[in-house]
Amino acid sequence: MCGIVGYIGNRQAYPILIKGLRRLEYRGYDSAGVALLNGALNVYKKKGKVNDLVNFIGDKNIKGNLGIGHTRWATHGAPDDINAHPHFSGSERLVIIHNGIIENYATIKSWLETKGHTFTSETDTEVLICLIEQIQKEGDLPIEDAVRIALTKVVGAYAIVVIDRLDPNKMVAARKSSPLVVGIGEEEFFVASDATPIVEYTNQVVYLDDNEIAIVSRENGLKVVNIQNEEVKIPIVHEIDMKIEAIEKGGYEYFMHKEIYEQPKTIDDCMRGRLSVQEGWARLGGLAQYKNKICNADRIIIVACGTSWHAGLIAEYLIEDLARIPVEVEYASEFRYRNPIISERDVVLAISQSGETADTLAALELAKKMGALTYGICNVVGSSIARATDAGSYIHAGPEIGVASTKAFTGQVTLLSLMALVLANERGTISSTQYQEYITELGQIPEKVNKALTSSDDEIRIISEKMKNADNALYLGRGYNFPVALEGALKLKEISYIHAEGYPAAEMKHGPIALIDENMPVVVIATNPSAHEKIMSNVQEVKARKGVVIAVVNEGDSEMKKIADYIIEIPSTLEPFTPLISVIPMQLLSYHIAVMRGCNVDQPRNLAKSVTVE
Ligand code: GLU
Repeated sequence: MCGIVGYIGNRQAYPILIKGLRRLEYRGYDSAGVALLNGALNVYKKKGKVNDLVNFIGDKNIKGNLGIGHTRWATHGAPDDINAHPHFSGSERLVIIHNGIIENYATIKSWLETKGHTFTSETDTEVLICLIEQIQKEGDLPIEDAVRIALTKVVGAYAIVVIDRLDPNKMVAARKSSPLVVGIGEEEFFVASDATPIVEYTNQVVYLDDNEIAIVSRENGLKVVNIQNEEVKIPIVHEIDMKIEAIEKGGYEYFMHKEIYEQPKTIDDCMRGRLSVQEGWARLGGLAQYKNKICNADRIIIVACGTSWHAGLIAEYLIEDLARIPVEVEYASEFRYRNPIISERDVVLAISQSGETADTLAALELAKKMGALTYGICNVVGSSIARATDAGSYIHAGPEIGVASTKAFTGQVTLLSLMALVLANERGTISSTQYQEYITELGQIPEKVNKALTSSDDEIRIISEKMKNADNALYLGRGYNFPVALEGALKLKEISYIHAEGYPAAEMKHGPIALIDENMPVVVIATNPSAHEKIMSNVQEVKARKGVVIAVVNEGDSEMKKIADYIIEIPSTLEPFTPLISVIPMQLLSYHIAVMRGCNVDQPRNLAKSVTVE
């Protein structure tokens, strides 16, 4: 949450910062701001989106070869002009942008007040920059030392960049539990929350680690020290492989729409080198080293948040069904605070698109401390979770920019399907004939997803017209498709603001059935063959109470046609892989409804992607 970007070099910083902020806007869009150094230190900031900032700046002075920019997801203080970043120190000599939370800001603030500091904003961030200024003043220190010493007094999470007006050839950046990447160009440097603002200028990056401080200066280039002031001798330079097209809309109105339609390709990318239909094998490089340990684990505990948690629930069905290893799925935020029982014989699987989700990362650290093997399933290469785990696999979905996750979800489920298959084969819990059947079927999933996208779109637009004015909606599924019902409901509420609940279809009669009347759309996922008859009965129960049934079925399901009000037909597949196809209409339905309601699909209110605060 919060996007940060900084530039120092020979070009004008402003266009680089604005372009970078647009790319990072998925991380927060309560307000945006920039600071530019050109002798004077000019700060411009505005409530709202990056476009509001650009309009506000108009023809103001935007000169400067050194600058920083921020797009905010407010934690401390309302999203308004004053609380927007960058924040000045009291004397306006220093300026900061910050992603994260300074947990002990109140104590530091009281102390600073005794020293005569006053504050204009309600943010924790302003407290930090005033602390840095106080330390700098007391010790007459260079900015990097003042930042470092201040950070030893801080509890919490941060990625920060600081500029000192009196030291105009330098930018100081630091991180703890929030991501920060340094881009290395020709006589120029970039810092950013992720690589997207950097990628068109350089592919050479250094990922800062926790408690590291980067001093980027015109004279001395990049120097990295840790919080004890020990120099990191040779920071590891990574080469990033990200294409500009992957972070642009390419003709689509919204990133979410583009990302939904990318799924045949992203699922294929996820399986590349991991599945061979011709040769009849599935494998996961990340698993190889620890295969025995995972195969013999007492339990696999999955920790995740949001959509990734839904992918985790599907993994519970997959791994228990195919590989017969007990699985528990936990909200990372609950798991970490409930004194969980974890042993060295457990494997903890962390699922996170960004690889930066604060709660998932913390749950993982806890599991590590308690001796469990940790495995990460992430999309963003080089992310904190990817680096913190013992082993892991990337889903290779490419940058996901729409706040509502789509292609990352199907990437996660594809990866988890492969994992279940590999473990099942290794443990001998499925026959070799079944193994081959699953492999052949997985190989067909991209094509079937493609068909689901093209064949259901028209019908979904018609249904969306009918559903768009609903106040509530119910999503029902059973077995493998119960988590898909949860995911469908989440997609609808997060981007269209229609209240929706996902429920196991059979549980409906223990409560939600009381809500059903002729105004309640009920989306039923009826694609798993083993639950078909049972779910037909659940649909009858809804119809008996005049609910409007929208049924997602396998092609040719003539029985459901007789009772449902609307039918969405999708290609059938083997039961364990049905979520990969049945989630497609869920995504399209929420997308079209949100567009029809005039919502900003990519940037839903109050939300942000990459949740780096607890
Ligand atoms: N705590 C800072 C603020 O409220 C930064 C928020 C964040 O990174 O999400 O402005």
